[in-house]
Amino acid sequence: PLMRSLLTRRVPLQVGRMCYSSSVPTTKLFIDGKFVESKSSEWLDIHNPATNEVIGRVPKATQEEMLAAVDSCSRAYHAWSDTSILTRQQVFLRYQQLIKDNIKELAKEITREQGKTLADAEGDVFRGLRESFQIIFRMAGMNTEKVVEHTCSITSLMLGETLPSITKDMDTYTYRLPIGVCAGITPFNFPAMIPLWMFPMGMVCGNTYLLKPSERVPSCAMMLAKLLQDAGAPDGTLNIIHGQHDAVNFICDHPAIKAISFVGSNQAGEYIYERGSKNGKRVQSNMGAKNHGVVMPDANKENTLNQLVGAAFGAAGQRCMALSTAILVGDARGWLPDLVERTKKLRVNAGDQPGADLGPLISPQAKGRVHQLIQSGVDEGATLLLDGRNVKVKGYENGNFVGPTIISNVTSEMKCYKEEIFGPVLVVLEADDLDEAIKIINKNPYGNGTAIFTTNGAVARKYTNEVDVGQIGVNVPIPVPLPMFSFTGSRASFRGDTNFYGKQGIQFYTQIKTVTSQWKAEDATLKSPAVTMPT
Ligand code: NAD
Repeated sequence: PLMRSLLTRRVPLQVGRMCYSSSVPTTKLFIDGKFVESKSSEWLDIHNPATNEVIGRVPKATQEEMLAAVDSCSRAYHAWSDTSILTRQQVFLRYQQLIKDNIKELAKEITREQGKTLADAEGDVFRGLRESFQIIFRMAGMNTEKVVEHTCSITSLMLGETLPSITKDMDTYTYRLPIGVCAGITPFNFPAMIPLWMFPMGMVCGNTYLLKPSERVPSCAMMLAKLLQDAGAPDGTLNIIHGQHDAVNFICDHPAIKAISFVGSNQAGEYIYERGSKNGKRVQSNMGAKNHGVVMPDANKENTLNQLVGAAFGAAGQRCMALSTAILVGDARGWLPDLVERTKKLRVNAGDQPGADLGPLISPQAKGRVHQLIQSGVDEGATLLLDGRNVKVKGYENGNFVGPTIISNVTSEMKCYKEEIFGPVLVVLEADDLDEAIKIINKNPYGNGTAIFTTNGAVARKYTNEVDVGQIGVNVPIPVPLPMFSFTGSRASFRGDTNFYGKQGIQFYTQIKTVTSQWKAEDATLKSPAVTMPT
């Protein structure tokens, strides 16, 4: 019902100069509290990755529509930033419940557009819920177990600071305040979680928000907007536009937008960071990755191999924290045959089919690129232990499926090692000892995530100290931090100086106002102008 309320109208489409009647639903814009049909003449097809059938169309919003959206954010800002934190928090308390109530429908839509399995799609929504809402819960000191644990630190993040009597009769104090209209640009791989990293945090701090979801998976964001409206967010506090480069440029250039959150590829993220920063905006860019899992010979073998397989191939490898590179250290090199055997058991199928472990890739282009990268490994002398290129999925012959693939004997000079593959491909390197493994990782430009598998605390400690990566798991394959911390990818995986969510998320979406006040007693009144700097 939620999705139907957004997408049932089927309108005649004009694409280029061709005008024809479309039988697929169109994605609306969300402007000033209304879901409106775009007047654009440029539309993009949305495909179901399991079949490649066109399931919808998304507009490239016109300049007028984008201006209307940002104007709506600007108009709503004054009242929203003036609304008490408790009222804003109430909106999000209702919102988190509505998301939970609709999690199945959201997941279904994610699977239809993005391809991931239904269970994984629910995880997508759930992580977004957690990462954005626990903060809001804890800000209010809500009385649940998890909330209470962190209430103190979160409420202190929203508090200003005070220092009385910094000199005679003078006090200084600070307020943490919103910054204005903020914008988010999101990728295709987490249609719920990543938008939910952005607008709830930005909005609860008192900002209004302009979102541009991935043009490949726009429907989930529309459903999230509808639920937010149902939760009582006033018109104009969230606006959604669609499109590609023009929409991105619009966001980077419009003077009313004060901050941009971006998640996606390095090509786009570097560009947005540079263009947005040049225009005086705060920008945070979470980008690509090459995450290494180091397997020490003393690790718990059963556990390690299962974790490695899950983290390499889950979501068909289309996670920025996928453990896409294994480094087998010393005698752990002998574990390769077991790794392959376990991997062979994974089932490739359409995401909505029972028992599917991994679904299709997002597009035929993505599939072609992954095939090429696998071939490049073969051409450069690596060993293809498991080849997923010829996988056939019964009933879904046109889907973008690639089966789990393992390439061993990979060196750090090979293309399949240097490039982010973003598919179900595990490349395996070997190292004689921990020092060699650390050297390999620190030479790689990316710094998103890594994991070490070991039963030796001293080894784990050395690793966490010496490896130059933002998020480290010790016997935890995908160490995405919960919301009391921040998502701290580093080096080429991140641009900016304030990370997503957690304390740093609050900092990104707020600014500090510092007040110094003096209240002198009547008899201490200055008798003449003070022309020197006070000391
Ligand atoms: P993408 O960069 O192609 O798209 C992301 C957004 O940028 C989209 O909204 C798109 O419209 C826009 N865009 C695309 N190309 C652009 C360009 N040249 N100029 C301006 N805007 C552009 O990314 P994707 O393929 O949707 O997502 C996959 C990538 O995202 C991977 O590299 C993955 O590692 C990364 N990612 C990173 C994180 C993280 O937290 N570090 C999380 C998820 C995904």
